Amino acid sequence: MEHRLRRCPNCLGEKFFAEPPSGMVFFSVREDGSPQRTKPPFELIAGLVLQEIFCTGCGWHGRADELLPPGEPAHG
Ligand SMILES: [Zn+2]
Repeated sequence: MEHRLRRCPNCLGEKFFAEPPSGMVFFSVREDGSPQRTKPPFELIAGLVLQEIFCTGCGWHGRADELLPPGEPAHG
């Protein structure tokens, strides 16, 4: 099953990480705003409130709802 992924507003990357107390987790963000596991096990991020996430590609950080929706050009 392939999900459309939201993208970094700065570099269009689709991989993000967060640093909850349980440790750094890596994930992507689906179109509906839910996290898609990359690693570690999904249980660790299922309850994670994505208040601040970091782009693995450029260092951008912000909230998941600030990400670009899938399929939109970077510059309009
Ligand atoms: Zn980025």
